[in-house]
Amino acid sequence: MGWILLRLLFAALIIRLIWKFVAGAVSGATAPPPRGAKRGVALVRDPVCGTYVEPSRAIRTRAGGMTHYFCSKECQRSFVKTA
Ligand SMILES: [Zn+2]
Repeated sequence: MGWILLRLLFAALIIRLIWKFVAGAVSGATAPPPRGAKRGVALVRDPVCGTYVEPSRAIRTRAGGMTHYFCSKECQRSFVKTA
């Protein structure tokens, strides 16, 4: 009689462990990936040095109907020189 109760308790424990594992895996899968960029901010690439910059903070230059973004004045200058 006693061992049936023990087995039931053991089974409940196993189910609880599996449930915890599944719930943890699901919440882990739905969590946003920890990427470097801030969420909702689309970064633009500096064509000179390849650095990704926020458009609001970047130095802009319009050339050939396109807007180019730079991380610094130096990059902007060298781009204007080479273009
Ligand atoms: Zn740059």
